[in-house]
Amino acid sequence: MKLLYVLLYVTLFGLINARPDRSNFKQQKATCGYESCHPTSNDLLNVHLVPHSHDDVGWLKTLDQYYYGSRTSTQRAGVQYILDSVVDELLKDPKRRFVYVESAFFEKWWLEQDEERREDVKQLVNEGRLEFAGGAWSMNDEASVHYHSIVDQLTWGLRFLNDTFGECGRPRAGWQIDPFGHSRELANLWAVAGFDGLLLVRIDHQDKKRRTSEKECEMIWRGSDDIGAPSDLLTGVLFNHYSPPPGFCFDVLCSDDPIIDDVNSPDYNVDQMVEKFLEFVKNQADSYKTNNIILTMGDDFYYQNALMWYKNMDKLIKYVNERHNEVKLIYSTPSCYIKSLHDSNTTWPTKQDDFFPYGSDSHSFWTGYFTSRPTLKYYERRGNNMLQACKQLQSMTNPSDESGLRSLRSAMGVMQHHDAITGTEKQHVAYDYARILEAGIQDCLKVSQNAINKLMATSEEISMQLCKLNETECSISENSNSYILTFYNPLGYEVSDIVRIPSIGKIASIRNATGALLEHWIQPLTDDLKNRKKIIKSNATHELIFEVKNIPALGFKSYYIDNKGLSNDDDGVQKTEQSYESRDIENEFIKVNLDSNTGLVSSISFTDNGVTTDFPLSQEMLYYEGADKSGERASGAYVFRPKTEDPISFNRPVNRFLTSDIVSEVHQHFSNWTTQIIRTYRGQKHVEIEWTVGPIPIEDKTGKEVITRFSTDFKTDSSFYTDSSGRQMLKRILNKRPTWEVELDEPVSGNYYPVVSMMSIKDNASKRELYLITDRAQGGSSLKDGQLELMVHRRLLKDDGFGVGEALDESENGIGLVARGTHYLVIGNSDQETPPLIYSRQLALKKLLQPIILISDAEKIPFSQWINNNNVYGGIIAKLPDNVHLLTLEPWKEGSILLRLEHYFQKTDDPNNLSKSVTVDLEEFLSGFTISSIKEVTLPANQFSNEAKRLNWKSSEIIAENFNEIYNKQCSSNRNSVNYCMLDSKRAFTHMIRNQSSNIDSRNTKEIRITLNAMEIKSFVIEAVPKHL
Ligand SMILES: [Zn+2]
Repeated sequence: MKLLYVLLYVTLFGLINARPDRSNFKQQKATCGYESCHPTSNDLLNVHLVPHSHDDVGWLKTLDQYYYGSRTSTQRAGVQYILDSVVDELLKDPKRRFVYVESAFFEKWWLEQDEERREDVKQLVNEGRLEFAGGAWSMNDEASVHYHSIVDQLTWGLRFLNDTFGECGRPRAGWQIDPFGHSRELANLWAVAGFDGLLLVRIDHQDKKRRTSEKECEMIWRGSDDIGAPSDLLTGVLFNHYSPPPGFCFDVLCSDDPIIDDVNSPDYNVDQMVEKFLEFVKNQADSYKTNNIILTMGDDFYYQNALMWYKNMDKLIKYVNERHNEVKLIYSTPSCYIKSLHDSNTTWPTKQDDFFPYGSDSHSFWTGYFTSRPTLKYYERRGNNMLQACKQLQSMTNPSDESGLRSLRSAMGVMQHHDAITGTEKQHVAYDYARILEAGIQDCLKVSQNAINKLMATSEEISMQLCKLNETECSISENSNSYILTFYNPLGYEVSDIVRIPSIGKIASIRNATGALLEHWIQPLTDDLKNRKKIIKSNATHELIFEVKNIPALGFKSYYIDNKGLSNDDDGVQKTEQSYESRDIENEFIKVNLDSNTGLVSSISFTDNGVTTDFPLSQEMLYYEGADKSGERASGAYVFRPKTEDPISFNRPVNRFLTSDIVSEVHQHFSNWTTQIIRTYRGQKHVEIEWTVGPIPIEDKTGKEVITRFSTDFKTDSSFYTDSSGRQMLKRILNKRPTWEVELDEPVSGNYYPVVSMMSIKDNASKRELYLITDRAQGGSSLKDGQLELMVHRRLLKDDGFGVGEALDESENGIGLVARGTHYLVIGNSDQETPPLIYSRQLALKKLLQPIILISDAEKIPFSQWINNNNVYGGIIAKLPDNVHLLTLEPWKEGSILLRLEHYFQKTDDPNNLSKSVTVDLEEFLSGFTISSIKEVTLPANQFSNEAKRLNWKSSEIIAENFNEIYNKQCSSNRNSVNYCMLDSKRAFTHMIRNQSSNIDSRNTKEIRITLNAMEIKSFVIEAVPKHL
């Protein structure tokens, strides 16, 4: 399979060139794109029939089970048959159309086709008969996914389409028809990626009702206030889910009648079918602005027998068009529909917030999946960490070989699917996702190992492993007498970190690259953890703690650890902790004070520039019981529905204190299944709260959903902030929605929002701010002024009735699943030297892309041999400005590399400093490479920036410069008013998309300088060779 893949893209295209080489297409006329759309009529109601199949990349069955069509007793679904059958039917008649979406499936099928079939398919694509919409590896979720992985999996899917079909394979329409709510950041990314429009389905039922009655289902969605007009995206909400009109499902899985047009047949039904159809389309047309409507002729895994569909749709088109001269029925595609909306010259309403949370009825808020399967969500995030590291390492050592990256690139694409990372799949499918991810990570480990050995110039290849540090498990550090730890830093900055390695408590020496001994600490595991160790196979009794300082950007440092060597008790290098009955948790910046009565945190003191401020704050763990009454909506994998509004408290925690000069900790034991460690490390300006929850008890036959809650005296006006897909922050207001008067029957879950990376509250009057950074996606809310809560784990005994057909009752090792994770708390005043928001953004990035810790058994590698390696490596890139993030450095086609740089601050974050535009000299930045060309490309790297064009749209409404500022505020459009916060639509839409950036390909000038504005990402395909090779 791999060989075929390589042959495929080597033979087909000039690889740097994003356009197809036409000579490869045998006498095929490329009339794809808008040119290929069937004509519509200004005077008629144009009905766009869009044949489609919604093919989940795993849900009730695994990816392979869906592809091959096995496990029919679970679901009659086989993607290979769908594609076989659709292609046969499309070839029969040039009028027919089909849209395909998931590149993970399409590529799998494509690799199985012979040359003749491939030529046929290329012809269909070149003539616009087979269109790709979305086109990412999977149809990603929008609540739990991080933008880093959204960008990657879009790039990976579109790359396959571009390599295979060239320009005609480029999707113009976004097609997010099943994700359970929609992210504003996704709209931004889709707009800058070059999509002309986005079609979606699942918005809140009250929002849908209002939009339908006011003809506002189609709108211009501004994806980012920082990017402005270039982030505007035509967005349409579909009328009838993504299903065909009732009575017109011609699928083998349906039981509707076919069209029977033999006038002599007693079952002749043309008159009746045509009337029924017209009634439906007229009703739909009443809710939309233009004389174009779209009918989704498909559903989950439809078209396994496409003949049935096309035969009946052919007849439907024929009879409706013959008999009714006010309606024109055509085969169409998402992009042709969007083009017809564009051509209608309509003025559209606007939107600036997002579509969360999604309530499908008044008791069903799909906010449980923000947290469902917390360990899978964490594993996925670590997968991204690993993928970035190994893509970078490959770029630095052998960019022309991408083969080792393929499995993790694909696995991460699969993981973004809206039934993967969401936790809404069946248990056996979740195991399969973990299997796919693990295989990808192992392949990536090999890539990293090879690259690092090369850079270390080792005399003998050193084998490297990953430890399960989140489970305090590591067989090498637990069992070997000596081992090597190598820390690779995937960030574009130097980082320092404090690490914990599972240990059996023996005295160790740690030596760095110069052979110097390092300060370190040995700390015993908590009793709770020791008890769990009996279940998992691990000998660890202690943790080894030490500080890894100044790991170079895209570089590594290696350390040699000896468990049996010299005892260094005497030289004062090793230190042990002291245990106390009661103690404050503190370092030089921050102090966590505990209430002696409740045992809980009572305040946090923060010292900035010699001034100490005390912030009253309490924190505790609590749990909701999930609704489970029969006949009513249950809390389940998708839906969060607590039995009561108030969560249940635990008893006073039992506290144990441990302090050394590097870390100060309190271990809080709330119950046998809920514990946490609050800690401050030397030198850090934040508090770490490590929670461990599980096995959640179910002996009382009640499902439970565990939260952590922080309460302050902040006056927050019912508002709080959550990130959108890990990027821009969006304001939320309790019991309110920005675009309609909401009625909430679920006051808790209806106020939950996705938190991918960060949430916060602010007291504007006192300028105090609190940020919580997560290590995975979770659901969160602020149900009372000054409060924040995050849901960390959930175990439920009933299915919520939305299709998965299983209760979310995860277990591992024969008991309920134990989940462990960390929150990072940052508190302070917005006018302090490093404001909490700035610190939090930087911290979130460090936690997203942590140093990769590789461990090697050194029983056979004596220290004297190890010390001869290059155990410190760095310098392939120059330092980036503080507001620029190296988002991507990966091997691209034919030895080139793909580079993405991101300005990662919003305009309002730090207007006088970090939010400002910044210039980077690429040649200087890539000083470790010999560059022969640099070309700017669009976000998914499937077009050159200077060739990318999008459709322009007209909007009627004023758009605010800053949504967060105007939400819940009376705004004036008078520029002289103090309340002025609007920008009129003309201003907003006069500077459209074209000249966002210029193409840089000149080598005549010495300097290749690029400028990044707030939140801007720029992508470049660079032909370059690492100088050290
Ligand atoms: Zn789906």
